[in-house]
Amino acid sequence: MPLFTPFANEPFTDFADPANRELMQQAIAAAEAEFGREYPLYIGAETIMTADKIKSVNPSRIDQVVGYCAKADKALAEKAMQAAQEVFARWSRVPVIERARYLVKAAAILRRRKFEFSAVLVLEIGKNWAEADADVAEAIDFLEYYAREMAALDKPVELVPFPGEENEARYIPLGVGAVIPPWNFPLAILVGMTMGPVVAGNTVVLKPASNTPVVAARFMEVLREAGLPPGVVNCIPGSGSEIGDYIVDHPRTRFINFTGSRAVGLRIVERAAKIQPGQIWIKRVHAEMGGKDAIIVDKDADIAAAVQGTVASAFGFQGQKCSACSRVIVHKDIYDEFVDRLAAAVKVIRCGSVRDGDWLGPVCDANAHRSILNYIEIGKKEGKLLTGGGPGPAHGWFIEPTVFVDVSPTAVIAQEEIFGPVLAVIKAGSFAEALQIANATQYGLTGGVYSRNREHLELARRQFHVGNLYFNRKITGALVGVQPFGGYNMSGTCAKAGSRDYLLLFTQMKVITERF
Ligand code: NAP
Ligand code: MG
Repeated sequence: MPLFTPFANEPFTDFADPANRELMQQAIAAAEAEFGREYPLYIGAETIMTADKIKSVNPSRIDQVVGYCAKADKALAEKAMQAAQEVFARWSRVPVIERARYLVKAAAILRRRKFEFSAVLVLEIGKNWAEADADVAEAIDFLEYYAREMAALDKPVELVPFPGEENEARYIPLGVGAVIPPWNFPLAILVGMTMGPVVAGNTVVLKPASNTPVVAARFMEVLREAGLPPGVVNCIPGSGSEIGDYIVDHPRTRFINFTGSRAVGLRIVERAAKIQPGQIWIKRVHAEMGGKDAIIVDKDADIAAAVQGTVASAFGFQGQKCSACSRVIVHKDIYDEFVDRLAAAVKVIRCGSVRDGDWLGPVCDANAHRSILNYIEIGKKEGKLLTGGGPGPAHGWFIEPTVFVDVSPTAVIAQEEIFGPVLAVIKAGSFAEALQIANATQYGLTGGVYSRNREHLELARRQFHVGNLYFNRKITGALVGVQPFGGYNMSGTCAKAGSRDYLLLFTQMKVITERF
């Protein structure tokens, strides 16, 4: 058995401590000093610069370029596929414990470079300090957790003995995977989606999101430093529609590990189902997609706690989490009081530069900014604007924290994923009705209930149909190993990231029988 210490979640940094604030400010200054740096593709043992580049912009200061990243076309995507395929033959035979050590080593490097990575997340995608730190901590958790879990899986599976025979069952890897993560947890989700399959013995072609190629390139530096053999992870930023389709369609792609929007996820599911010339397997697709997550506030809830949890869940990282609360369903008896207290709590939120410690930052890019403002205009027709409702400071893609009240459960803003700082408040006549409203979307990712009524909590346990259900706390911030994460219905295939089961998705069981 390996001698790693038992898994424990990486602690968050205390930014109330002046020493940590100082370290963070230094890291931000250092990252700013590297603005405009160029980052290569990683294919096999090569690092490749291309003439065409992705410009990664600071969403808080859209005149600042965080970095220029090489951009793969189809020919380079093909080269990456070939590199991954070639290395698979060797990597799949590397002992599990040795594969696990690369992850533990990468975690140690990330831990040492924590402030640097947090600073890049602040500047490249507009996370506030605490959100950036949590993203890095979660990346470390995925590495440490999957390393240990894969080591634990590396033993013969228990079978029913059969006279005269030896029967043996093991998990073996699948092959080359296309890994396609989103920009909203550009380190944590990318690391988990890449390194889970890798520790299970697969090799991957990783296509990071186009909004966040710099943090991806820096993670590739960590893997190089950790000594991971070249070609195990091939990193090719590039256009989703061009090379995304190419690696999804490729006949040598064995599985696709996707996290992102419903639209792209469903497109991948459909394309992957088509057998290409020369393809000799059925592709596996894990697609984790959007949410329209609700918190129910019961009539006997602790209202102050419910307001605090709703604000944290709805506006943390500007509402750009798949787990974010975008609907709060409130019992009629306490509706007015809840709304008054919510208004007071949201009105004091400052929207501004996360670099200097503001809590609410910008949304990710110009398209998101436009799309969210458009939903706000729709909301103005569908509900009553309580607070916010417009763009923030013009030097970035800011949007004021926005709350609509008296929204119908079937309104557009109560049904479609907005993915920004916009919250719809819905009134319910009873707890049963609140549950029914909560379940009445096509999604099923996270949900929450604030209540002191045991019967109601038990009812919600049985009937609130979401992958991650939280009582009397916020509905974001799932911890690796503690709250395995993933949703139902159009929220995806419920891969449950950060669970023991996750690694099995990237393996297949082989059974060998010998008769003596
Ligand atoms: P997205 O637009 O769907 O993009 C996700 C990834 O797919 C990006 O790398 C993107 O590349 C790529 N892509 C785009 N078109 C593609 C195609 N035709 N073929 C293959 N790949 C393609 O999503 P996002 O805006 O990055 O992320 C936000 C969404 O992710 C939200 O819906 C959120 O709820 C969801 N999310 C879900 C979870 C979960 O666990 N369920 C977690 C986090 C986020 P480009 O960047 O180059 O377009
Ligand atoms: Mg950016």
